[in-house]
Amino acid sequence: MADSTAVSENRVLGPRQFDLDRCVHCGLCLNACPTYRELGLEMDSPRGRVYQMVQVAGGAPITPSYVEHIALCLACRGCESACPSGVRYGRMVEDARAEIEAHTRHGRVAGLLRRFVFGKLLQSRAALTIAGTLFYLFEACGMKALLRAMGSLRMLGKLGVLVQLAPSAEPPFFFSQIGRTFPPQGERRRKVAFLSGCIANVSFARLNEATVRVLQKNGCEVVVPRQQGCCGALHVHAGLREQARELARRNIDAVLEGSYDAVITNAAGCGSTLKEYGELLEDDPEYAAKAREFSATVRDITEFLASLDLNPNMAPLNVTVTYQDSCHLAHGQRVRSAPRKLLAAVPGLTLREMPGSDICCGSAGVYNVLETQMSMQILASKMEAVNSTHAAIIATANPGCLLQLQAGVRLHGTGQRVMHVVEILDLAYKSRLN
Ligand code: SF4
Ligand code: SF4
Repeated sequence: MADSTAVSENRVLGPRQFDLDRCVHCGLCLNACPTYRELGLEMDSPRGRVYQMVQVAGGAPITPSYVEHIALCLACRGCESACPSGVRYGRMVEDARAEIEAHTRHGRVAGLLRRFVFGKLLQSRAALTIAGTLFYLFEACGMKALLRAMGSLRMLGKLGVLVQLAPSAEPPFFFSQIGRTFPPQGERRRKVAFLSGCIANVSFARLNEATVRVLQKNGCEVVVPRQQGCCGALHVHAGLREQARELARRNIDAVLEGSYDAVITNAAGCGSTLKEYGELLEDDPEYAAKAREFSATVRDITEFLASLDLNPNMAPLNVTVTYQDSCHLAHGQRVRSAPRKLLAAVPGLTLREMPGSDICCGSAGVYNVLETQMSMQILASKMEAVNSTHAAIIATANPGCLLQLQAGVRLHGTGQRVMHVVEILDLAYKSRLN
């Protein structure tokens, strides 16, 4: 909880006046905002949140009410796509959160937990391996399945929902592949660096392997740089920009020591932050230019593959797929057509669009854990949109969205399979008998 007596006299963070001034209060963003669509409250709309940021910038205190309205924002940036005035809302909400964080006194336990998760767990391969192994044992003994069954009976309240949202541990973890170079299949067309994430090495190890295979199938030599680490996206979203800068420097050093045609990520949330390293380190005299150079080479896997002459040797997949835009891909990176182009390239696959595919599914980093009730409300609306397509597969391009939509399928008993676009390509390549 924020210290409500704190005032903005010591204001060193927070959204810049230049950004705040861009909002002309037209309200064209309101219907693009998931929280406004669910609650119908001005203070939980982009325009209302900008208004509150303006008040704080003008000297109003950071009150618990302000903290709550900013916390309830998904930082999905749907409002940015809708805004005709070029309001950089994503950057503004990150700055607002950084300011709130600087004025917040966390309780002892919450503070320790926060320091452990952001300062240690996400940054340490050893800690993630231990946590992943413990989690795997928890799953292997049947506890997770039991809790999920109880959760689906709504006996456990929020805990039941969190169990539905929990990722799986997927041994062997992808950490063992970090430092390796994978040769292209056939003639080398590109040399790329693959950033495999942090938790994804434990919970999306098979997705990471599929990503490497699909790149190889498309003539790429894939290097998984040894010194890479967490991209810092979760830190940025939590207002921990200094920690994020440290992580950014590490990844820049890890990648710029090689020479690559592109730096690839399969996580839209990470990609968005990686592409903004230039901005994150703009005041760092040593790293500002390097960060800009690094960000210019970052590509989402779908964006990169769609720019190639895609290897067409795929088996037909006679299935109907609907695509959920990941917010950080559609709104953060403005990548919308690339994943659709890849899906359309799979023989036999029918792509059926859902209404509002670019409205957030409620995942939003750790939002679904912190703001579970609103996240589940948004997810219920999303599952209605999905069901209207009668698709058998929900495709998306971000691990967080995969988890959220998988939970949606379980909680609503709708039966679809949820897959990353790259996993669908991998399946089509693998199914081809040659
Ligand atoms: S980022 Fe998303 S949730 Fe937040 S104000 Fe914009 S549209 Fe609404
Ligand atoms: S954020 Fe943009 S769309 Fe929304 S009210 Fe302000 S100017 Fe209008």
